[in-house]
Amino acid sequence: MTNPIKDLNLKDKVAVITGGGGVICSVMAKALASKGVKTAILDLKKENAEKVASDIKNAFGTESIGISANVLDRGSLEAAKQEINERLGSIDFLINGAGGNAPSATSKAERIDPADLDHLEETFFGLELEGFDKTFDLNFKGTLLPSLVFAKDMVLKQNGGIVNISSMNSYRPLTKIPAYSASKAAINNFTQWLAVHFAKTGVRVNAIAPGFLLTNQNRFLLIDEKTGEATPRGHKIINGTPMERYGTPEELTGALIFLLSDWSEFITGIVIPIDGGFSAYSGV
Ligand code: NAD
Repeated sequence: MTNPIKDLNLKDKVAVITGGGGVICSVMAKALASKGVKTAILDLKKENAEKVASDIKNAFGTESIGISANVLDRGSLEAAKQEINERLGSIDFLINGAGGNAPSATSKAERIDPADLDHLEETFFGLELEGFDKTFDLNFKGTLLPSLVFAKDMVLKQNGGIVNISSMNSYRPLTKIPAYSASKAAINNFTQWLAVHFAKTGVRVNAIAPGFLLTNQNRFLLIDEKTGEATPRGHKIINGTPMERYGTPEELTGALIFLLSDWSEFITGIVIPIDGGFSAYSGV
């Protein structure tokens, strides 16, 4: 009898991971390497990209290269593609991981207090367009441009997969960060659009929406440095997460591997929340 469960079919495929020098995407790259995928780690910070590639080669013995590239600069992505094609071969997978928020796109106040209209600069009215543009461009155009450059290999061979990195903000915006929230909502919409556009080419486009992870970037917002206790924002997050804990980057890798493998070959255009139940919970 044939086994109804197929092989993952990942070995020797070539994956490009943008933001691969960062916290989440370095773990994702390692998870793919552990399944035999050759990895191109792209990051603005060359040193970080090279370090992740070197760690991968040492730990898994799979080919990995670190390349400096800017997801907002088409020329630098084209140069990276040429290098990847020469050193690893034609591209099968793209993980659009570079992203983030800018302080200048973050309002100080969560809501406007009608009894205190003297400090409107701390609200929506104090946000700078420059910060809005920077955040929106990094997340949205930083997903669009690498897709334009790296997906061509996949369409030409009629096989491949893209996984975009969305966020809980994409379903319902979090307070203070409207640009980040809007840009991640745009990523969900673009994931569906591109999935339909590519549907007959054998290239599938999906996304994952991580819930709350405790990383070096947000630790100061969520844990009080002096007491080691959760901050008010940290409490809100844990109270809003039915599993009552933060996630880890490692807990995102199962869905990533599933979405790139043949186990999901009839799945395209979806966004998987990986959030300990946050998006399912009304708070009551
Ligand atoms: P991180 O800051 O550790 O990683 C982001 C990486 O992207 C960095 O290495 C940075 O150098 C790189 N980068 C920034 N701008 C770039 C550019 N223009 N070109 C190329 N590389 C660039 O952040 P992270 O927490 O690992 O986040 C990775 C992704 O996951 C982001 O898209 C983020 O929005 C998303 N995300 C994070 C969380 C979380 O809790 N940390 C939750 C949901 C979604």
